[in-house]
This record gives sequence, C-alpha cells and structure tokens, in this order.
Amino acid sequence: MPCAACLRFTDDAEIRKINREYRGIDRATDVLSFPSAAFCPSRTAGTAPQLLRREWDAEIKACMLGDIIISADHARMQAEEYGHSLKREIAYLTVHAMFHLMGYDHIREEDREVMRKMEEKALNKAGISRVDDDLLVEKAKEAMQFSYSPYSHFRVGACLLAADGRIFTGCNIENASYGVSNCAERTALFKAVSEGAREFTVIAIAAEKTMAWPCGICRQALNEFAPDLRVIVACGDERDEARLPELLPHSFGPSNGICEYLGKDETNDK
Ligand SMILES: [Zn+2]
Repeated sequence: MPCAACLRFTDDAEIRKINREYRGIDRATDVLSFPSAAFCPSRTAGTAPQLLRREWDAEIKACMLGDIIISADHARMQAEEYGHSLKREIAYLTVHAMFHLMGYDHIREEDREVMRKMEEKALNKAGISRVDDDLLVEKAKEAMQFSYSPYSHFRVGACLLAADGRIFTGCNIENASYGVSNCAERTALFKAVSEGAREFTVIAIAAEKTMAWPCGICRQALNEFAPDLRVIVACGDERDEARLPELLPHSFGPSNGICEYLGKDETNDK
C-alpha cells in the first residue's frame, strides 16, 4: 500500500528543543522519528497492515507513517566522523527513521540485527551502497585473473552486488567441449544464488581486450533475479554502463506470470 512520511531538516539548536519538549532529553541528536501508528512489540507495518490503514490520508492517497526530523548539523558531523558522504549519512538517517515509523526498533540485539539488514538492503536498493562502483570494478578485475580460457584467450571477470550488501565474484570457465563453457557473469550469479542471495543491484564486468557486455544467455540469466540490474563494463581505465532492460528489451521473465515465487523477500512486497 502507498505510504508517506513527512521529512524535515533542521539544525542542532532546534532538534535539541524538540528532543527536550517531546522526550524530556535536553540535548541535540541526529534524528527523531514520530510514528503515526503504534505497533505493538514484535509487530511491524508488514505484519500489522490494518494499523497502518487507519492512517490513510485521502488527500495524499497514502498512509501517513509519521514525521522525521533530521539535524543537518549532526548529519554533517557524523558524515565526517564515519568518512562517508553527507548524502550517505542523510540517506542512512532517513532509512533508519523510516523503519522506526514502520514499527522496527533496536533495543534488543536480535531486533537490532534485523533492522541493520533491512537498512542495508534499502540503501542498496536506492543505489547508496557502502560498496561503490570502483570497488566492484576492482573486484571484477581481480576475478578476471582466475579466468580459465585456454581456447578463446578472452579473460573476463565479474562482480555482482546483492541487495543485502554481499558481493560475489566469478570468471569465465571454458571447456574442451566448447558448449560446456560458462561466462563470468553466470559464475558470479550462480555462486550468489547458491548462497541464498536472490536480489541484486549492480554487476561489474571486466575484460582485458575490449569492454565486454554480457552475452544473451547471461542477460537472460540475470533478468531472472534482477530485471532492473545496473550493468557496468570495464576495460583498463575505460568504463560504460547500462540498465538490463536496455540490454534485454521486451524480456521474458518471472513477471510474465509463469512463476508465483519472484524470489523476493516476503517483507518487501507489502
Ligand atoms: Zn555470457
């Protein structure tokens, strides 16, 4: 169901005032969240949607999750402290607060772990990953060193980023019976799927001689799990990128209704 939240940026002085007024804590903080729906412990927006439905706002045609207030002063300071961009810090604080509005918390260790995983996944989906393109390309180039390609002498490496933040690498593996050969992209994909990963956001592909876009079979294989995948190709210092739908237009995949199971986590299709 469509949901909305109100996000406001302020400074340390004002967030301190709000923190004092509403929570009795007289100090500035990075983010405050005020949920509209009161989920009971162990319930979240996904498991108690009826609570959320009560917050339906006919004007904006969405369920109002609540308010988020972020101190830009604090965000700037923390971005510097953690050594990442202000964009990542603000995205992190927003995602963190959004999960609070949806009933998640991090008081108990096991809840904290669940929330951390959801946050990482949300940030990855938004393309604000800890893992940047440079690292993926570097890992793809490393994987290329393991290429087994005595017949084509065309070495390829791939590095696939899963929505949960894990990365999986692969190289091309040829065979005396040529048709048995496997491309780097599918090696990485099959390794990932066999270890439980089902959603992916980016793949980097490195080759030595020229930039190598995935072959038709790999495009189809990737489309099964990541129809909106970002594909980066690299050769030396050269780089190019495209989305999978550009590489495989009018594709045929799980969304064509032949498979009930879309490989999605049940928590994110509500
Ligand atoms: Zn291929």
